[in-house]
Amino acid sequence: MAASTRPTERPQRPVESLDPATGEVWKRFETVTAQGVFEAVDRAKNAQRDWAGQPVGARVRIVRRFHESLYRRRHEIARALTRENGKPVAESIGSEIAIALDFANYYARTTPRFLRAPWYNAGALSMKRKRVRVSHEPFGVIGVISPWNYPFMLSAGVVIPALVTGNAVLLKPSEFTPETGELLASLFAEAGVPTGVFTVLQGDGSTGAALCDSGIDKIFFTGSVNTGRRVAVKCAERLIPCALELGGSDAAIVLADANVHHAASGIAWGRFSNAGQTCVAPKRLYVEAPAYDAFLAALGDAVRSLKVGAGGTQETDIGPMIRADAVTALESQRDDAIARGATIVATATKPDSNGSFFAPTVLANVPADARVLLEETFGPLLPVVRVKDADEAIMLANDSKFGLSASIWSSDTARAARLAQRIEAGSVVINDAVVIAGMADVPHGGVKQSGIGRTHGKAGLEECVRTKATVIDRFTSWRQAWWFGYSPAHDAGIDAYVRVAHSHSVLEKIRALPTFVKFIFKPRRPV
Ligand code: NAD
Repeated sequence: MAASTRPTERPQRPVESLDPATGEVWKRFETVTAQGVFEAVDRAKNAQRDWAGQPVGARVRIVRRFHESLYRRRHEIARALTRENGKPVAESIGSEIAIALDFANYYARTTPRFLRAPWYNAGALSMKRKRVRVSHEPFGVIGVISPWNYPFMLSAGVVIPALVTGNAVLLKPSEFTPETGELLASLFAEAGVPTGVFTVLQGDGSTGAALCDSGIDKIFFTGSVNTGRRVAVKCAERLIPCALELGGSDAAIVLADANVHHAASGIAWGRFSNAGQTCVAPKRLYVEAPAYDAFLAALGDAVRSLKVGAGGTQETDIGPMIRADAVTALESQRDDAIARGATIVATATKPDSNGSFFAPTVLANVPADARVLLEETFGPLLPVVRVKDADEAIMLANDSKFGLSASIWSSDTARAARLAQRIEAGSVVINDAVVIAGMADVPHGGVKQSGIGRTHGKAGLEECVRTKATVIDRFTSWRQAWWFGYSPAHDAGIDAYVRVAHSHSVLEKIRALPTFVKFIFKPRRPV
């Protein structure tokens, strides 16, 4: 389907916000039909023209007001995030709200400068008469399709730069975290975003698919590889751009000189926080042989001490997984590894409840063909592999269809930084993990099947705009030397230009100069 074709269709079932700690549905939201999605895009197109016409300072003020409202309402929003997603309140505040506040600050501060478009003189010798300006224009209406695992900060990290650069945005939150979408809508409305400029479209995958089929100008998709591929195909059919932030199976490499207790504690947090449901979590662990036993003992101690329970309960480290299906999928990956010879090194204790809990588990002796090393594991399960040296660790780290992020743990940070250059991933963190996806000024994104494009930082702004060049020739009656009126003298003049501009010999340049000057300044047969 090249152009968007309007669908007619029945309403979908409402989406439900379910507390994964209890299995209880606590809110329901009406969903939008495919026809409704198309209409929302039309409204956004109308609203976007005025929005883009405002000075950037006016849009920045709205982002600052969003920041103020979010700061003020942070506890209310954290409680809702915990209830809907399951993560501990400390993570709702620290890994969602604090990071969204950082995004708002960062883009409010940097966007005016980013959008500045000064005139400059063209560089090429033949273009010296010209002045140039490179400006950034909004795409128009941007569709943002979000996952449930960091539903607030990942959406905010794309929506804020899209809005502040002058786009209208339609956000399709995950059907598992609809309340988060509503909260974002209320915060942007409170901040003063005009009607139609930011709209939340509640629904499931079919709503996301309708958004890709509509008259949208660009899609930002964050989610699984399989869905990302479907989104990319739809965008290709309509010849619109998309940025894809997809799954990962990040390697963590622990070198022999690492502080094993520090590394075990950091990797335990990286892997198990958010109940292991983090795109950039360390999901495959490679430990150099001399550090292996001490590291595994420290990791085992760290994991056994984790408190698993409802995210709203104080002192809970690990909340439930998002749904019972996700637990079943992870159990199947764990059981496959055990059937192939892996052993359980340590587990934490999970509560006896109706919630979708999975006890954090560390596996050792994991064979290379185990699914836990080949597929993405999206839950609190960590396979550990002993390697003989850093070269083997890097070879195994790169032996993956994914390339989102990675971490290296070592006391020699200069060596670790050199090794990082050999890792096939969008980012590498040394002596920490996961944080990369929440650093407002650092680009985030993957290579291989982990995605296309970048979000966050300046790269995140660049993804929200089209680059437009304007070129002015300052002379209105002095013809360009290369316009029509071709002749042997013209050919000699063109060749003289190439010699002056590109010859590697200074003497040759000097020899060609008189013919070149004559070519530029001598009046010729006008055509
Ligand atoms: P998902 O692919 O199931 O769903 C993501 C979103 O896509 C949801 O809003 C869903 O409704 C929508 N969707 C489903 N089918 C669609 C279709 N055909 N067309 C358009 N939209 C459709 O992913 P998920 O389970 O929500 O998220 C988990 C995955 O996301 C993991 O693989 C994780 O690694 C990845 N992820 C990646 C990043 C990153 O930054 N790279 C961040 C977070 C999560």
